[in-house]
Amino acid sequence: MLLRRITQHVKNQNWFAVFIDFLIVVVGVFIGIQVANWNESIKAKQDEITYLTRIHGDIEFAEKFSKRTITRRINTLNSSLEMVELMNGDGNEFTDNYVSCYFPSTVSIQINLPSLKTINELLATGNLNLLSNEHIRSAILQLHTRIEVLRRFQDFAKTEMIDIPDVFSSSIKLRARTDENNEIRLDRLCNLQALHANNRFVNAINDGIDITDAFINSHVIPWSKQLEQLHRLIDEDLHLNHKD
Ligand SMILES: [Zn+2]
Repeated sequence: MLLRRITQHVKNQNWFAVFIDFLIVVVGVFIGIQVANWNESIKAKQDEITYLTRIHGDIEFAEKFSKRTITRRINTLNSSLEMVELMNGDGNEFTDNYVSCYFPSTVSIQINLPSLKTINELLATGNLNLLSNEHIRSAILQLHTRIEVLRRFQDFAKTEMIDIPDVFSSSIKLRARTDENNEIRLDRLCNLQALHANNRFVNAINDGIDITDAFINSHVIPWSKQLEQLHRLIDEDLHLNHKD
């Protein structure tokens, strides 16, 4: 229709009308492109909100899942430190009775980090740029690196640490029991006198406490703080205001 009209105007040499027709075509195309861009940017914003909401859910789960384990590991580290100090002393007060004890063990460097599925998906598909907030992108990359380093450290520590209850089983008894939350807990009972006299044990716990301390203070706690920081950034971006 428009084409026929333009042809007619050209035949009549009505150049002004041709110009107006041309302008209508150009403006039409321009508006079409703008509307398409606009729709695309609305879709991108919606996708971004969907991804951020999913990441937020993953983080809330991870924080809840890991909170109690981290607290337990910190408590065990502190109690193990006391044991190391006792063992490094003269040991005159020890008897050969079995008493409750703590020591660094391979369990101290075990934490199952909950998987952040949405982040893994964004990274695996190369779609991290769907998130427009550069602080969030950067926090995600830093957290991802932290998780990799932490897992490598766990693997290294597992091969380095002696399985103390097994190697020194003649002076250590493990006893499982059910705690007040109906969870199975493991009590460790030690013959402190015998263990203090055993240099290999004293060396092993001094070595183990160093690894456990590095695991908790240089890996797990920074991971937890980075997760918290990412959570805060996403809360800000999604205008969420809640206190756990
Ligand atoms: Zn939140």
